[in-house]
Amino acid sequence: MIFVRILCGYISFFRNFARQMEKQDAYKLDLKGMLDDVVTRSLVADDDFFAAVQGDAIQHGHVALQVQVRRGEETFDLALQFQGEVEVSCDRCLEPMLQPVEGEALIKVRLGDTYEDDGETVVVPEVSGILDFSWLVYEQIALQIPLSHVHPDGECDEAMRNVLMQHEAHDGESPEEVERATDPRWEALRKLISTNN
Ligand SMILES: [Zn+2]
Repeated sequence: MIFVRILCGYISFFRNFARQMEKQDAYKLDLKGMLDDVVTRSLVADDDFFAAVQGDAIQHGHVALQVQVRRGEETFDLALQFQGEVEVSCDRCLEPMLQPVEGEALIKVRLGDTYEDDGETVVVPEVSGILDFSWLVYEQIALQIPLSHVHPDGECDEAMRNVLMQHEAHDGESPEEVERATDPRWEALRKLISTNN
């Protein structure tokens, strides 16, 4: 019985692993082996995707995307369109919140000696010819997160916000004021001045 249970455990582990690998393989394209001039893929960047790319800005999300790679004379055009939401932490209360993201991008891809990515053109090593566009997708989604992101009014974690506001108020004092408030000698001097007056 125990043996069967262990075996089932192994099978489900490898099944999950295989499923995740398959998901990540959908973000790879063999440029040299493209049978058609245009390849289109409809994908969903989900928690597995964000866990696999390991970017700092996003760990969770659900973003539907369409990727189209078109072969040109010397380069390939990668067109990307996406829409969905990602989880980020609120600037006001630091609790998680869902941020809608939507965008499109056009990236030039060409074959070359070594991998390069300057934000507009990506060079894929000709030896392998495999374009892995998972990081390109991640970057484009992350670019759509606004600098300031907060919960709608009234939805912040108020307890957390109060703690943060107290912390900020304390941080706002000048170093001299903080020193006076904590240094007992200032307290003694203050008493001396008040008794002399
Ligand atoms: Zn909030």
